[in-house]
Amino acid sequence: MRGSRALPARDLPRWANENGVAPVYARPVSESFTITARDGAARAGVLRTAHGEVRTPAFMPVGTKATVKSVDPDELHALGAEIVLGNAYHLHFRPGEELVAELGGLHAFMGWDGAILTDSGGFQVFSLRDTLLATDDDGVTFRSVYDGTSERFTPELSARVQELLASDVAMCLDICPPAGVPRPELEEAVRRTTAWAERQRDLPRAAGQLRFAITQGGLDGELRRRSSVELVALDFDGYGIGGLSVGEHREPMFQATTEAASFLPEEKPRYFMGIGDPEGVLEVVARGVDMFDCVLPTRTARTGSALTSEGRLNLRNARFAADERPLDDGCPCPACSRFSRAYIRHLVNQQEILGLRLLSLHNLRFLLDLVAAARQAIERGEFLTWKDEALRRAKGPDE
Ligand SMILES: [Zn+2]
Repeated sequence: MRGSRALPARDLPRWANENGVAPVYARPVSESFTITARDGAARAGVLRTAHGEVRTPAFMPVGTKATVKSVDPDELHALGAEIVLGNAYHLHFRPGEELVAELGGLHAFMGWDGAILTDSGGFQVFSLRDTLLATDDDGVTFRSVYDGTSERFTPELSARVQELLASDVAMCLDICPPAGVPRPELEEAVRRTTAWAERQRDLPRAAGQLRFAITQGGLDGELRRRSSVELVALDFDGYGIGGLSVGEHREPMFQATTEAASFLPEEKPRYFMGIGDPEGVLEVVARGVDMFDCVLPTRTARTGSALTSEGRLNLRNARFAADERPLDDGCPCPACSRFSRAYIRHLVNQQEILGLRLLSLHNLRFLLDLVAAARQAIERGEFLTWKDEALRRAKGPDE
């Protein structure tokens, strides 16, 4: 029964039968995504998943190892998160997808009843270059970051891991080269990514699970177009834009995003993989991206920094030692509603766990609120002027 456990009735997507099982391709795929407003290239919409609706643009907090670091699922709901990210690579090695399935799937395991998107593991395998051993048409061999043993991922294994985790959105295993690789390597990545997507398209999925393919091609417009055309022909539920935000300069990356989005169908969700700074998020939304994820809010918290509407604050700075103000005026998060910058600075300096938690809660709330405000601006038809004003403020006061 692993992986086919029935969902509780309240979680049943409307296309599922009474056992909670979705007949593959028995529903029109477009039912899973609706665009509700447009403003230029920017869109607002709703992604329907087996665990509820996700309003887009959507920021997805990263819970790589089945936890958004130091944040409780109830807190995630309260912060406004509707979807979080898990990772097939990490969960495959620790604790293993079989165990997670035995315990009722990833939602039950981590106590989160909202939507979950799982990344395929492609980014981890290919971005940790010194652990990569060999790539061939069948799959990829690499050293596990956990114990250094030689391991192998294939498209079939990645799909199976995600089926057993029972995430709401599964990503295809792709080949994600770092920035600046020679063109033949980029071209080979595009070729294999398509061939692998073709092998994954009709593999078994968890009940109601959507499957997104990932376009590659780096900054090369022709390769990006080829990758997109080939994957769109296979008709997935949505598309990731991969292979960007991997170390290239920002302007060419934004330019490539405009192009990459233009090659994708209007009616399907678009997911920019790995961007989470306020400027990056708003710039990709402006280019027609619907979903994105980044470890930035929690990673920034671990360095003692807060994202605010007036730019980034490094709480280690002595100027906050007696600062009684909240991190960000008007922010309703648990940190800002009760604690001063001075107190949080003290916690950070003493490496107290509460300091990390408060900064994580605040940073997540800041990004989730920013994206919610972006959605409202799109609905009002004022996105571009709102974005310019938000970015001007975020750059901080003129020195
Ligand atoms: Zn706050």
